[in-house]
Amino acid sequence: MGGIAPPDNSWKGNLNVLYNIGPGFIGNYSTKKVRMHVHNTNEITRIYNVIGMIRGSLEPDRYVILGGHRDSWVFGAIDPTTGAAVLQEVVRSFGKMMSGGWRPKRTIIFASWDAEEFGLLGSTEWAEENAKILQERSIAYINSDSSIEGNYTLRVDCTPLLYKLVYNLTKEINSPDDGFESKSLYESWLKKDPSPEDKHIPRINKLGSGSDFEAYFQRLGIASGRARYTKNRKTNKFSSYPVYHTIYETFELVDQFYDPTFKKQLAVAQLRGGLVYELADSRIIPFNIQDYAKALENYATSIYNLSKKHDQQLKDHRVSFDSLFSAVRNFTDAAADFHRRLAHIDFNNPIAVRIVNDQLMLLERAFIDPLGLPGRQFYRHIIFAPSSHNKYAGESFPGIYDAMFDIENKADQHEAWEEVKKQISIAAFTVQAAAGTLKEV
Ligand SMILES: [Zn+2]
Repeated sequence: MGGIAPPDNSWKGNLNVLYNIGPGFIGNYSTKKVRMHVHNTNEITRIYNVIGMIRGSLEPDRYVILGGHRDSWVFGAIDPTTGAAVLQEVVRSFGKMMSGGWRPKRTIIFASWDAEEFGLLGSTEWAEENAKILQERSIAYINSDSSIEGNYTLRVDCTPLLYKLVYNLTKEINSPDDGFESKSLYESWLKKDPSPEDKHIPRINKLGSGSDFEAYFQRLGIASGRARYTKNRKTNKFSSYPVYHTIYETFELVDQFYDPTFKKQLAVAQLRGGLVYELADSRIIPFNIQDYAKALENYATSIYNLSKKHDQQLKDHRVSFDSLFSAVRNFTDAAADFHRRLAHIDFNNPIAVRIVNDQLMLLERAFIDPLGLPGRQFYRHIIFAPSSHNKYAGESFPGIYDAMFDIENKADQHEAWEEVKKQISIAAFTVQAAAGTLKEV
């Protein structure tokens, strides 16, 4: 879209440039260089994470975490308050159930993070401080940042392990959308944003970063997910929302424009709370590994298709994706086998139940490479990483993707393609090793 004509001249400043209210640039301003003088004051200050816990009745040493930040750029009525309010309401509803005598089987940890906007500081510090026990004991991390960034339909980014649970829960939640009265959230979501791979299910995105789940998912390998209301992707290609992080994020904006009935925030609260409830209280952790297998096959196919742009170089440098596809096939077989065994589990045998639950819990961890991705030691998940070109978006097989990015312009072609081969090996090894963790013990 080009520039929108401004209403009058009163809003313009005195710089010698063509003023434009956007979105985007007009003329060649996108290539202009600007010298900025930034006057910041550096100061050391204290930040506060607030951690609450419900001790699990059966497996107190297994954790389900619901975390979201509390700090904001200015008033923060959308970011983070629509998410912080959801966190509070989920805490309140779990408290209500507890006063009725209920207690979850596993421990639930509620976290209100500080200093997210300064670089995910509160959540990362807590993840680092507790890294060892979190790696050993965490089932999942659910993020509770902004619950709206638009008012059109649901948006979910999560590990493939959670796809099925998200679909099942959204079928139980009422849609808050006009025209979908008495329909489920799943139905309105499917109608408005079907998956590009399969139009019979709603779209779910890959996890990137830009919020507090980063250290838990990308660094520690804890199964993670996030959900919120979003805008119509077909008519609005811009990331985020127009007043994101500005002084205009006020309560009036939420109350009068984004969610006047507060039903969208309610639906998001029901989904986030439902995820925590099911993960903490189901006898078998409600993960589906076959959905991970399908996702791996899609990602392997799309990175292979991307490589076909360089058909001749693939031949010249003897680059093959066979090992990766073979590992994905082995993973797929191991997943099918695992779920077959799971269907016949003896619920009266607590050791048998704990064994499969540990396999489910630790699967995401198996995708972590302790060495990290090239040049990004804190991003250690081999299947997913924040895109190197947009931190908010997710990239699959990021090691291979980055090695091939702009490869035609690299000076040493031999070295560049050797790096691609190395990254394919790392991906194949990791998927194969993860498949190994699913085998019958
Ligand atoms: Zn935020």
